[in-house]
Amino acid sequence: MGDDKNRREFIKNVGIGAAALGTAGLAGVLSSCKGQEKAPAKKEEPAQAKQEAPKPKTIKWKMVTTWPPHFPMLGEGADLLAQWIDEMSGGRLKIKVYGGGELVPGLGVFDAVSQGTAEMGHGAAYYWAGKSPATQFFAAVPFGFNAQSMNAWLLSGGGMEIWEEVYKPFNLKPFVAGNTGVQMGGWFNKEINSIDDLKGLKMRIPGLGGKVLKKAGGEAILVAGGEIFTNLERNVIDATEWVGPYHDLKMGFYKAAKYYYYPGWHECGTAIEAMVNLDAWNTLPDDLKAIVEAATYKTNMWMLSEFEAKNNGALNTLINEHKVELRQYPEPVLKELKKLAKEVLEEVAAGDPMSKKAYDSFLEFQKNIYEWNKLTEEPYQKLKYL
Ligand code: CA
Repeated sequence: MGDDKNRREFIKNVGIGAAALGTAGLAGVLSSCKGQEKAPAKKEEPAQAKQEAPKPKTIKWKMVTTWPPHFPMLGEGADLLAQWIDEMSGGRLKIKVYGGGELVPGLGVFDAVSQGTAEMGHGAAYYWAGKSPATQFFAAVPFGFNAQSMNAWLLSGGGMEIWEEVYKPFNLKPFVAGNTGVQMGGWFNKEINSIDDLKGLKMRIPGLGGKVLKKAGGEAILVAGGEIFTNLERNVIDATEWVGPYHDLKMGFYKAAKYYYYPGWHECGTAIEAMVNLDAWNTLPDDLKAIVEAATYKTNMWMLSEFEAKNNGALNTLINEHKVELRQYPEPVLKELKKLAKEVLEEVAAGDPMSKKAYDSFLEFQKNIYEWNKLTEEPYQKLKYL
């Protein structure tokens, strides 16, 4: 892995949605709205007509995704989600998955599912900041939750209810359906020794993290995934972040940047989402609803496990074979970035009531988890491994 040909083939497949965070809901969402076949209605038949129970009809859905078709981990997660729903339902709910650009553009997923062009979508909630800024809290918050705490907040700490409230006006029901784990801090061609080294730095970094960089005097650039490498190589951008070693190795960034920084303070446990059109959801019988939900749980666990299991091997390849220089952000830089992140979050929260509601819930849960982690995760992390 990692030669030019492989890299080019991989990059070729990287569509806009995989990379570009941005204002969502842009272009060309198809307007045709094709509803799914209805679940069989319970019929009242005369006694003599009672023979065999009618065979349940197959419900057919479309799932549009922000990822290129079959994109490692993220697109594969969408494929598996559909496969598991099919298997668990005994083939009663069949979902055809479309990569970004195949049915609608990657960043058209939100609108497409909202309008019913597709019944289901797979992406990341921070792509939809242009629809509602509060969506950003359900993907990644700088210096926010890691994957474990994110799941705890969403599934058991009230986060999901607020997320549902944010999506409801758009006729959508959200699910958490994946997580990248802690990401890496990014690729640079100079060392970051002080916060001043970020001044004037043109970096591809999405979402709230980009706003923090801007406050630090840098420039957050929006670049589609397929163009990041070329832009970095040609110095159109000075630096980029992406995901973690497993993905970054495939993107070939080591050929265009020397230093690989950690940790990914801007995306500490990015949640990946599935969404379902509410009208379509309401037509499902209860058992199929439960199956869809269970399959999102399975996808969530699968994706995080895959990233966790594969990142370190890829990191070793980057360091040992490609001579990448690993660097840690200095403590004072992280401290300053954290201060700026707080300012950014407070500004977002002040912007609209749903953002405030999400931020308040986030802060309260963070305090709760911090107190518990201090006695459990924190001391444990300091213990030597066996
Ligand atoms: Ca990222």
